[in-house]
Amino acid sequence: MDFNVDKDGYYGEFGGAYIPEILYSNVKNLRDSYLENMNDPEFRKEFDSLMKDYVGRPSPLYLAKRLSEKYGAKIYLKREDLNHTGAHKINNTIGQILLARRMGKTRIIAETGAGQHGVATATVCALMDMKCIVYMGETDIARQSLNVFKMEMLGAEVIPVTSGNKTLKDATNEAIRDWCCNPSDTHYIIGSVVGPHPYPDMVTRFQSVISEEIKKQLQEKEGRDYPDYLIACVGGGSNAAGTFYHYLNDGRVKLIAVEAAGLGVDTEETAATIHLGKTGIIHGSKTYIMQTEDGQIIEPYSISAGLDYPGIGPLHANLADKKRAKVFAATDDEALEAAMELTTLEGIIPALESSHALAAFPKMKFKKDDVVVLTVSGRGDKDMDTYVNAIKNNKI
Ligand SMILES: *Cc1c(COP(=O)(O)O)cnc(C)c1O
Repeated sequence: MDFNVDKDGYYGEFGGAYIPEILYSNVKNLRDSYLENMNDPEFRKEFDSLMKDYVGRPSPLYLAKRLSEKYGAKIYLKREDLNHTGAHKINNTIGQILLARRMGKTRIIAETGAGQHGVATATVCALMDMKCIVYMGETDIARQSLNVFKMEMLGAEVIPVTSGNKTLKDATNEAIRDWCCNPSDTHYIIGSVVGPHPYPDMVTRFQSVISEEIKKQLQEKEGRDYPDYLIACVGGGSNAAGTFYHYLNDGRVKLIAVEAAGLGVDTEETAATIHLGKTGIIHGSKTYIMQTEDGQIIEPYSISAGLDYPGIGPLHANLADKKRAKVFAATDDEALEAAMELTTLEGIIPALESSHALAAFPKMKFKKDDVVVLTVSGRGDKDMDTYVNAIKNNKI
């Protein structure tokens, strides 16, 4: 079975491009040109050079000795937390802005929830001298003021969104509306492997630099270029897609995705889309969605702002549906505990999103020789308020 996208933009029954008429030519232009551009050696050279000298790649593959001892396997951490701007998101925004420039676009729009994708987009817009508009829900603006300041300092205009719950889903709707009104000069940089085809495939390919490096680094360290397990957290699913990409069709490698259970998958306060979602269409893509009986989107909840998207990338919906990936759900408390564990055992304070991936370890049973690679998608600086509160309340 091939787990990559097919020629129509589908992963099994998921994906596609369910878009309004007015966006048709925009999306078609992108679909017709993204592969040609990405495969052009000149494009590749520029992308690789920025990955190396601007982002700081390759990111290290670190053998975590004390963590390995604790869980009885050989555990490597793929250190996306060490990238410029502190997470994997910059891999995608660099790729997309190079593509936008080649397509003659001069204006960039983006949506952001916690502000991480907004900051990564504002960063590359400063780098490339492009106009940058970021849509962000009013609720999120109030919660994430530091990231709002960063975006503005980088020269972006942050537009507050006041519709709906004033969070990520509403910001995405506004960004799509903007794109409809400005089809010729504007490129919409989506921050994860979601949205209409070709976005899920395009973002996966830009993030696939992660598994490309894992292959090389494992070959050097282990004398074989594949692990027994790959583990990553999933919000929309871009760091996981990048981690899995070169192993999607390699049956020797077990794929583990961890979504956010919030207060628990059996509560109302959760973001466990794959566990609880039903098939539907969100933001141009057919996938699992958290929705009510009559199709209203349920607002997701997680302690981690980067994981509370009510949908999931179609690649992951298919991996779960076909049982190619095993999906765990980690609660807020499990993630906090895992963050503390990595901090005390390895001296690495992870992002709360990444902590959900780490929370898979206590749920798993390894053989002593198993080689495990877990992607640490980001660093914990942005989550210090949450960690401080958890410590004050004796939660960790
Ligand atoms: C945004 C974010 C995520 C979730 O996004 P994916 O597309 O699922 O990778 C995970 N980790 C960090 C650090 C993030 O900033």
